[in-house]
Amino acid sequence: MGKFADDEEITVRSGCLRRLYTVYQMVELPETHKLLRDTCRGFAEKELTPVAAQLDREHKFPAEQIKKMGELGLMAMDVPEKYGGAGLDYLAYAIAMEEISRGCASTGVIMSVNNSLYLGPILKFGSEEQKNNWITPFTDGNKIGCFGLSEPGNGSDAGAASTTAKLDGDHWILNGTKAWITNGWDASAAIVFATTDKSLKHKGISAFLVPMPTPGLSLGKKEDKLGIRASSTTNLIFEDCKIPKENVLGEPGFGFKIAMQTLDSGRIGIASQALGIAQAALDCAVDYAEKRMAFGSPISKLQAIQLKLADMGLALESARLLTWRAAMLKDNGKPFIKEAAMAKLAASEAATSIAHKKPE
Ligand SMILES: Cc1cc2nc3c(=O)[nH]c(=O)nc-3n(C[C@H](O)[C@H](O)[C@H](O)COP(=O)(O)OP(=O)(O)OC[C@H]3O[C@@H](n4cnc5c(N)ncnc54)[C@H](O)[C@@H]3O)c2cc1C
Repeated sequence: MGKFADDEEITVRSGCLRRLYTVYQMVELPETHKLLRDTCRGFAEKELTPVAAQLDREHKFPAEQIKKMGELGLMAMDVPEKYGGAGLDYLAYAIAMEEISRGCASTGVIMSVNNSLYLGPILKFGSEEQKNNWITPFTDGNKIGCFGLSEPGNGSDAGAASTTAKLDGDHWILNGTKAWITNGWDASAAIVFATTDKSLKHKGISAFLVPMPTPGLSLGKKEDKLGIRASSTTNLIFEDCKIPKENVLGEPGFGFKIAMQTLDSGRIGIASQALGIAQAALDCAVDYAEKRMAFGSPISKLQAIQLKLADMGLALESARLLTWRAAMLKDNGKPFIKEAAMAKLAASEAATSIAHKKPE
């Protein structure tokens, strides 16, 4: 336009602003969700923040806290009440995940795996009997589940699973190793993906419900990580592990589809975990900037610091909107795969960049 702003530009800008404002009004949370956010925030401040660093240092599973979260309905948020869940939507889950992770990122990932990766696929693909047996006991925080897809040689390339399942009379016999399994040390059940026919590639993969512990299944060491160490990550090692024939989840050969669909929803949970980490890091930065004195005033008065805090806020708020949008699309039965992937990338990059920004 060449000029600073003429009447036409002002009209266009105010139109854009009005539209933006309408978008913000649309994402204003319903009262139920605000109440849930406040409850989770209060719980995290009281029960998680004070012990998070210690749990992480000691690799200690937060059993007591997970039980309390079970009582609050946080361990089975979108599971219908008839199976013992809270019967809420995915937006509620995203909000709760963020607040819990803001207090303790390990507790967040434990919650996320139980909700999205363990209960999610059983709810979607399980028979009525499987739902009663494998969902209900895992809703109150006394038992948690895990999800075994990755292998030492196959991560992104999940279709190349080399763990095998062979039918032998009334049982499946599992052999192979699953790697990086969150909750592995603490879980009472696993969904395990194994191939019944390698020549069929991803179409030969089925999903199996495996009780833990069970003969023929042993655990690897607890992996050390840069953080989230209160959430165990380990190998599941299957050596002629026998499980009943009826423990196939969904149709045989449908395992790859189950895994991919499960991970689509799981990305909303992990995006929300990253939002919680990002918000906690921003809270710390603001607190420090207000307390640290330089040149006779808190450094928060310095424009160079204000610009950094503004960039952090921008990255966080944009990622939050993407995450809530993905959750709302899922809740409304609309396609959300691309949006969930974008949300996970934006939120994890926001968390990393906010945590790494330095005052100088
Ligand atoms: C803390 C933690 C918890 C986990 N929890 C679980 C769990 O509960 N259950 C479970 O099953 N798994 C779990 N995983 C495993 C995780 O899902 C895998 O790490 C992931 O799938 C990537 O696999 P990989 O590490 O083998 O990397 P690879 O797939 O081998 O990738 C290696 C590199 O290649 C790149 N790459 C891969 N594919 C492409 C491509 N198509 N184009 C370009 N680049 C590519 C990747 O970006 C990466 O840099 C966990 C991992 C971690 C670190």
